[in-house]
Amino acid sequence: MSNKLSLIRSANIDNGLVRLGWDDGNSSVFHSIWLRDNCRCTDCGDPAIGYRKSRLSGLDLDCKPGSLDTDSSSLTIIWQDGHDSCFTAQWLREHDHDNHLRQSRAFKPKLWDDDFRHNPPTYEYADINASESRLLDMLQQVRDYGLCFIRNAPPEPGIAEPLARRFGFPQESNFGKVQDLLFDPGKRSIADRLDQPRDARPLMKGAYGSPPDWNNK
Ligand SMILES: [Zn+2]
Repeated sequence: MSNKLSLIRSANIDNGLVRLGWDDGNSSVFHSIWLRDNCRCTDCGDPAIGYRKSRLSGLDLDCKPGSLDTDSSSLTIIWQDGHDSCFTAQWLREHDHDNHLRQSRAFKPKLWDDDFRHNPPTYEYADINASESRLLDMLQQVRDYGLCFIRNAPPEPGIAEPLARRFGFPQESNFGKVQDLLFDPGKRSIADRLDQPRDARPLMKGAYGSPPDWNNK
């Protein structure tokens, strides 16, 4: 989506819908009940923290805008029942109902193609601990691909969990929060009978979830 500030050029009520014209020539149509349900006023909720006082089940489904008051950067709807709802132009533009725009805003996971298979996202442990921007870059790769590799972590107990806590809450499983892969031929589990270090690979069940989980099992 463009970072350009969107400005309202026109606003009118059309058969219960609110139609906006934008300064770039595009237009948007908003359903009344959707606008009423998303009212940003403090009587209806607190947009800063996402808390809602009003409930869709408590709204009049036949609510209609009575009049509009707009300037280029905001729209105020005065509803027929007297309630006022004010929206910024930017918020309205970012929440346009248009199917094409909604699809363009939607996150699209990246497929694991042959290039990914040979060059999966890989980061140095020291880098992502020393640099917030490097950590963010790694998280974006995890978001897009579902996994990444972190190399050259110190071979010491207790390394994985503090790192995992930097980007999420470790989920406890029947293995506990952390399971170290240790070669121990005296045990019968597959994880303990790795003949070569290169065979140690993560069980990537977390990679198939959304959002991706961290998992060193
Ligand atoms: Zn309100």
